[in-house]
Amino acid sequence: MIRRIDLRDADPASVDYRASVPRAEFDVEAVMHRVQEIVDAVRTRGVDAIVELTEELDGVRLDDLRVPSEALVRSLEALDPGVRAALEESVRRLRATCEADLEDDHSIEVAPGAVVTHRSVPVDRVGLYVPGGLAPLVSTVVMNVVPAQVAGVRSIALSAPPTRETGLPDASILAACALLGVDEVYAVGGAQAVAMFAHGAGPCRRVDMVIGPGNLYVTAAKRLLRGLVGIDSEAGPSEIAVLADDSAEAAFVAADLLTEAEHGGTSAALLVTDSDVLADDVEAELEKQVGATRHSARIADALGGEQSAIVLVRDMDQGLDVVNAYASEHLEIQTRDAAALSSRVRNAGAIFLGSWSPVAVGDYCAGSNHVLPTAGCACHSSGLGVKSFLKQVHVVDYTREALAAVADHVVALAEAEDLPGHGAGVSSRFER
Ligand code: NAD
Repeated sequence: MIRRIDLRDADPASVDYRASVPRAEFDVEAVMHRVQEIVDAVRTRGVDAIVELTEELDGVRLDDLRVPSEALVRSLEALDPGVRAALEESVRRLRATCEADLEDDHSIEVAPGAVVTHRSVPVDRVGLYVPGGLAPLVSTVVMNVVPAQVAGVRSIALSAPPTRETGLPDASILAACALLGVDEVYAVGGAQAVAMFAHGAGPCRRVDMVIGPGNLYVTAAKRLLRGLVGIDSEAGPSEIAVLADDSAEAAFVAADLLTEAEHGGTSAALLVTDSDVLADDVEAELEKQVGATRHSARIADALGGEQSAIVLVRDMDQGLDVVNAYASEHLEIQTRDAAALSSRVRNAGAIFLGSWSPVAVGDYCAGSNHVLPTAGCACHSSGLGVKSFLKQVHVVDYTREALAAVADHVVALAEAEDLPGHGAGVSSRFER
């Protein structure tokens, strides 16, 4: 069901741990030509192109791209009370961590009368894509909208593919929008939704930033339009790594590997352990648990893929080297000294400590964000948060005396760069 990779004899001087544990193929470039056509069509023909593409790709003929407000209200009224309560708690916890992430502007006097103020300014308008397809990801609405709102983004538009049954996005997505006060919602999917956000079309004004996960077409459109608009990140297949020793509960570890495998056949699930016994027990648990789940076929695909494995290591030091090299979207540490080991993790999207902080709570209700860097990007990027929506602006405020004190340095550097006009920008002020 899941392969084993034995790294216990690997030579630390020469081994490439990242290459030892490859990711599944996620070839964005393969669809780029098609996505370029879609983006060009939306740019040049706007709403007409979106209507045609939606009919072709989603099988829905749209009369209006925008979802009527009444449909949002109705969906919230019809929402299962248990789901509503869960969403409200998810929002409350995430909002609390987001608010704690906000920083006041601060000023530094770098020399007498020379003040630089560090200001955070929210992005004005954001377009959020919420995937339809395999699963209506209602939690995606929460995880993207809450930090944007806390950051102070003034205008949030959301788009999700229409379902054939109603011609609208899934009702749970609409309900989550109503709950969060997002009333600008479009029934547009795929690359055409990203193009609509980036170029503007019909009722949708262009946005400054496009966020949200999606399939290859959505990801390719974000890559293509990056620059014209800001993007959050490219969301690849989900992944989990569990670093565990013989103190871990095999049933818990297996359940957590299965959690992320459930996203689809290209998801990655890794157990990194120094215990043969745990490896055997987790494998046995996986056999047992996979058969009992509703989505056992796609989970079995994910666990049986090249990208999933039980990785055997000599000790926890080597285990840390492996997980740091892999840079997993989610990292669980189920060991005796989980907190101490976690302080040595440099690359992970989010870290879950011990037996009682499973990845599933992070997916929904932990108060952390579930939009996290995949495909090893955790070695250079962070998950989504308030700061993703804040631009950092320096405000420079010098007095005459403060400028005079630094004028010679400016002129010297301007001369060194053969840009005398730059020097004159300072020196001419004192020649009058
Ligand atoms: P989606 O909403 O991303 O894509 C559906 C759209 O794809 C359709 O509306 C259509 O416009 C477009 N499309 C389909 N076939 C096309 C074709 N041949 N040509 C052009 N466009 C086409 O929904 P999905 O397909 O179910 O994918 C959801 C994706 O989101 C999955 O890949 C999942 O892994 C990913 N996801 C990732 C994360 C994350 O955080 N990493 C979270 C949630 C979802």
